[in-house]
Amino acid sequence: MNNNMRFNSKVIHGGQKPDESFGSVMPPIYQTSTYAQTTPGGHKGYEYSRTHNPTRTALENALASIEFGKHGLAFGSGLAAMDAVLKLLKPGDEIIATHDLYGGSYRLFIKIFEMFKLKFHFVDMQHIDTIKTKINKNTKLIWVETPTNPMMNIIDIQAVSVLAKEKNILLAVDNTFASPYLQNPLLLGADIVMHSATKYIAGHSDLILGALIVNSQNIEEQLRFIQNASGAVPGPMDCFLTLRGIKTLAVRMERHCINGRKIAEFLVENPLIEKVYWPGLADHPNHFLAKNQMNDFGGMISFVPKGSNYNKAIKIIENLKMFTLAESLGGVESLACHPASMTHASIPKNLREKSGVLDSLIRLSVGIEDFQDLIDDIQQAINK
Ligand code: PLP
Repeated sequence: MNNNMRFNSKVIHGGQKPDESFGSVMPPIYQTSTYAQTTPGGHKGYEYSRTHNPTRTALENALASIEFGKHGLAFGSGLAAMDAVLKLLKPGDEIIATHDLYGGSYRLFIKIFEMFKLKFHFVDMQHIDTIKTKINKNTKLIWVETPTNPMMNIIDIQAVSVLAKEKNILLAVDNTFASPYLQNPLLLGADIVMHSATKYIAGHSDLILGALIVNSQNIEEQLRFIQNASGAVPGPMDCFLTLRGIKTLAVRMERHCINGRKIAEFLVENPLIEKVYWPGLADHPNHFLAKNQMNDFGGMISFVPKGSNYNKAIKIIENLKMFTLAESLGGVESLACHPASMTHASIPKNLREKSGVLDSLIRLSVGIEDFQDLIDDIQQAINK
């Protein structure tokens, strides 16, 4: 298969081929823990499913292809994938991370890995110079999340990668919000791309799965060792479903982006709304960077209703009918959440508010329904 195929073809064919046993177009779900051996070590490449599983291999090859990388690794969740990256480090190492990142990532860093003597610095990465001020001889990893969650700031991956390379620091990018359809960090100089494939990649709110994609064989070998040694692997059924989700990633994303634009424009023009955060808006502070770095602007939008506070924001979310009040994002159905009390509750209030995650902020994951129905739903919720 042509390796230079375009993204719309990659999601269907990239790293994928019919199964060799019977030609099934989709890989079988190899629901097995172990594999028969003819003599100790005499097997067909698979010996135990924590180490390898053919359905997982099929998914990992597809993940590598859609992120324009050489190696893909699948994990039991996005956080398990992050956990594996942090295990590349050792006590005393320092990490510089985006300050307004997913609350669960913050919790993993602070509540788990600080206990093992890793040191984290959280900085506003919209200004590259703030990263520079935290670099010292112990800095081993820069962790970027862009667009940021939920403030929708955009970080210049290429500029950070130039800095990281100059100082011999690993650069990892959480590409969950953008998906491989909108942005490919390896092409911009990142060393590791991470996904909560739970979100856009799988796309149907029916599973939890994480992914890492890398080019370096050395990093791949270390991560592969951790994947097996720590054992946070996904089951074959979830690998199959994720692979099925990948097939429609491009068409789903196209619609997420169209609907995202319609809803962002509706919110901007609505007199009951105070502030809208969506990188496709011309007055978004990083709009030009987003235009350069991303293929479109996606379906994640945050907004603050006029004169809102905690109670008003909660009331609006509760009034929504087509948007489901739920954590998570990136599925075909539209979701609404209250970051301060849900996805970002694990970040202390003062830190959270410093990065803009106020009690009045509402986050939308715009799905692929008819956009007019979604607009009508928001309108009736804020009118009440
Ligand atoms: N990164 C981001 C940006 C997320 O939004 C999430 C989950 O919401 C994660 C990582 C963690 O992924 P998972 O829930 O699959 O462990």
